Amino acid sequence: MNVKGVLLDLDGVLYTGEDPVPGAPEAIRYLKEQGYITRFVSNSTRKSRVAIEARLRGLGFDIRNDEIFTPSVAAIHFIGVTGLKRCHLLTTGDLHSEFEAAGLYHQDTGADWVIIGDAGDNFNYESMNKAFRLVLQGAGIIALETDRYWMGSDGLMLSAGPFVRGIEYATGKTAALVGKPSPGFFGMALRDMGLTPGDAVMIGDDVVTDTGGAMKAGMQGILVKTGKFSQEALAGADPGPTRVIGSIAEIDTIL
Ligand SMILES: [Mg+2]
Repeated sequence: MNVKGVLLDLDGVLYTGEDPVPGAPEAIRYLKEQGYITRFVSNSTRKSRVAIEARLRGLGFDIRNDEIFTPSVAAIHFIGVTGLKRCHLLTTGDLHSEFEAAGLYHQDTGADWVIIGDAGDNFNYESMNKAFRLVLQGAGIIALETDRYWMGSDGLMLSAGPFVRGIEYATGKTAALVGKPSPGFFGMALRDMGLTPGDAVMIGDDVVTDTGGAMKAGMQGILVKTGKFSQEALAGADPGPTRVIGSIAEIDTIL
């Protein structure tokens, strides 16, 4: 595969649950030694960029903060372009601090945007109804991601997608997606790498969010059989990935 840059998904590719995928830290070191430009493009919306970097370092990965792209980074950029700054965050973890650092403060009334991430236990009738009412009152919907589910340490977990679709269904409005697989998200990472889509490959465990989205944006796609990989999802993938490997540890057989 003739490329200059490699974009990597995190959850399901570098780690699953609390553990690194065996051989993954060595694989990242290998890619960097070979001179590939690397970016880590996560749809994880439970942690800020700073927290993700700390976690990856703790798992043994040599990764810099500015190599990590998350939907919140993309959302902050998107909101900055619109100039409408009143945000209602339906999220969890330390995302509030990341938005506040960018001058965007959580509002319970009169929001310009309802921002929906993987809010975990913060999704409940009250919080969903609050978001529903704010959108009816005029707020736009920003989806940090629309994944259906992810692989937790004790099984599959609902992601933000089902809740985003619920608010869309109730309000008749369509969310602006800022995370994978939106072309804007991949475009932001590629611009930062100084590469065109033809020079890059995306490695992921999701045939829609990772390989499918990247291939629709003009890149190649490598699917790994770790994380949420399933044979059924691979069989139904359109487009199907360029290559399939057992895990990121086998990357030196392709790149
Ligand atoms: Mg993944």
